[in-house]
Amino acid sequence: MLIQHPHDHEHGLDLEAALDFLNTRELESGQFVERLHRPSDARTWFVDQGVLHDDAAGTWTDPDLERIRTVRDALHEVVDAVAEERRPDPDAVEVVNDVLARGVVPHLDCDGTTVRIGHRHGASPVDDAVSSLAAPIVYELASGRPDRFRICAHDTCRWTFFDASPTARRRWCDMKTCGNRAKAARHRQRVRQEAIA
Ligand SMILES: [Zn+2]
Repeated sequence: MLIQHPHDHEHGLDLEAALDFLNTRELESGQFVERLHRPSDARTWFVDQGVLHDDAAGTWTDPDLERIRTVRDALHEVVDAVAEERRPDPDAVEVVNDVLARGVVPHLDCDGTTVRIGHRHGASPVDDAVSSLAAPIVYELASGRPDRFRICAHDTCRWTFFDASPTARRRWCDMKTCGNRAKAARHRQRVRQEAIA
């Protein structure tokens, strides 16, 4: 099911939002804690980010949640590998490539002499959601500043973040205390929702 859209809307996540999503599985007191417990948690997250329209997102099932988590963890592995300057797990790379092949794809549209870029949707809302999640990370890894991906140096945090500072010397997810990270994520989400509204 490939639906071609007019150019009146955009889907996608910015890099910060995509990284927030990677961190929905996070370390807490030395244990990994899952923040996406139910399919509806994941669905709500993407709708709140403006990636999917509520009326088009459909109902999400347990296999959908499983896929979302698999993609998230694969992206996490690739970003961590880059940050740690090691080779990523080939299975994770394969998962990411599959996501890119099946989700939202750029699409040229010609109107007279005007050539514009639009997008086509993938086979399902979940395909669209995970490809929107992968895109900003993949583009930054491949053609941006891959050396700016970091894992928080705080042993009990290990939050994945992007160092956009002028000096490129950030080692912690938050310069003062990395305990404020959840607050920062909520703040970004609120700003984004207000922008959408
Ligand atoms: Zn931290």
